[in-house]
Amino acid sequence: KLSKRLMKTASYLPKGAVFADIGSDHAYLPCYICLRDNTAKAIAGEINEGPYYSAVETVTQCELTDEIEVRLGDGLQILNEGEVQQVIIAGMGGSLIKTILEEGIEKLTRVERIIAQPNIDARNVRKWFNQQDFIITNEAILEENGHIYEIIAADKNAPDDPYKKDEIDKQLLFGPLLLKDKSEVFYKKWKHEYIKLQRVINQMKCAKIRDEVKIIQFERELSWIEEVIN
Ligand code: SAM
Repeated sequence: KLSKRLMKTASYLPKGAVFADIGSDHAYLPCYICLRDNTAKAIAGEINEGPYYSAVETVTQCELTDEIEVRLGDGLQILNEGEVQQVIIAGMGGSLIKTILEEGIEKLTRVERIIAQPNIDARNVRKWFNQQDFIITNEAILEENGHIYEIIAADKNAPDDPYKKDEIDKQLLFGPLLLKDKSEVFYKKWKHEYIKLQRVINQMKCAKIRDEVKIIQFERELSWIEEVIN
């Protein structure tokens, strides 16, 4: 059975998706999709040999070798231009997801949708989407096994940009759509982040050499969080 996190991530693929799952590990997500949708096709990418062989094994066991191709290599480099319409990158930090997208940007010319599930630093991913004109069309936040996960889907040719000019920094932090529809898990996450950030600021204020610029930036963010959770 697929995790709730990966099921939600997969739910943003259209029927008949032709997609890449980068950092696929056991290839559970592409197998889940291709077992349920016989018009879907996937490329599972892995940089490490261990997970690459795990992916090959799952695909073989599921008898999906005609539908899913497993490739060994770094990020989007395993793709030929125009080969997929959707890209999934799940279960990594936001800065790594951003680097993978940035370094493979030339492979994205025909990609219509990117679905990212950053474990931390979702803001990095949102910033990159915004710079590259990928418009966020779906966002989800959920809790599983004591962890809170965010999932972001962004489309190349979506009509509506969710950002407001004077609120963009705040929207990038919380997620423009998550901010609109604050769920219980959202509150839980940001209450927790508030305590963490407060602690960080206190430590920074006690440091021998104070980084005043960072302190001001963090205090600004703390006030946003305070606003949002109250
Ligand atoms: N996507 C799966 C999920 O969400 O459950 C697996 C997540 S796992 C924590 C991250 C995987 O990404 C690892 O198997 C790792 O080898 C792979 N990975 C890390 N950097 C990568 C890169 N630059 N290109 C491809 N795969 C990468």
